[in-house]
Amino acid sequence: MAGERGTVLLVEDEEAITEPLSEALVAEGFRAEVAGTVAEALRVARSLEPDLVLLDIGLPDGSGLDVCRELRGFSQVPIIMLTARGSEADRVAGLELGADDYVVKPFSAREVIARVRAVLRRGARQLPGGATETIAIGGLELDPGKHSAELDGEPMDLTLKEFDLLRTLMESAGSVLTREELIDRVWDMNWFGSTKTLDVHVSGLRRKLRDDPRAPRYIHTVRGVGFRFSGPDEA
Ligand code: CA
Repeated sequence: MAGERGTVLLVEDEEAITEPLSEALVAEGFRAEVAGTVAEALRVARSLEPDLVLLDIGLPDGSGLDVCRELRGFSQVPIIMLTARGSEADRVAGLELGADDYVVKPFSAREVIARVRAVLRRGARQLPGGATETIAIGGLELDPGKHSAELDGEPMDLTLKEFDLLRTLMESAGSVLTREELIDRVWDMNWFGSTKTLDVHVSGLRRKLRDDPRAPRYIHTVRGVGFRFSGPDEA
């Protein structure tokens, strides 16, 4: 049945991209909605509440980065940016504004769908062995069942990937996780762009944890290896 896997909002003005991608999404069981401008994207996102947004940066009435910023004002929907080759600054800016991942043009529909599935699968993931229990370390409390987190009693506003990253770190508190392990567990696949994606998400998370990278309370950098979340006795 069409749409059984969820609704994907495709924000892109080029029909050469939207047509084959929409067809491929529908063939995979998604409902696909297309918006060709910043204004339309925000209107459709509010009314349709999609399960995932594929977001082009170059739009006729503005930048996809504006869409990303606005979306994050009212929604934690997963966002995957569609970016031009060489536009590193856009990718970093998008990740800092709360996008979850990106693909680089030119891409195949197959590649985009693999990424869409990976992002949605990770978001819906239930860990085996009763790992839906609340995890509390220091002033931080994470509830995987409700997908919510609190810092010093205040609710944290985390994106899907920030939440997954925090959960992965907290589940291994006290031990070092390598960059590769984190990328594999949180983004589901090992690929070239993820190192930057990981770094931007770690900095974003540190900001929200009010963690000073030079004297962190929670996320410690293990130089040349990866990251370690403070054990219960340290935080
Ligand atoms: Ca475009």
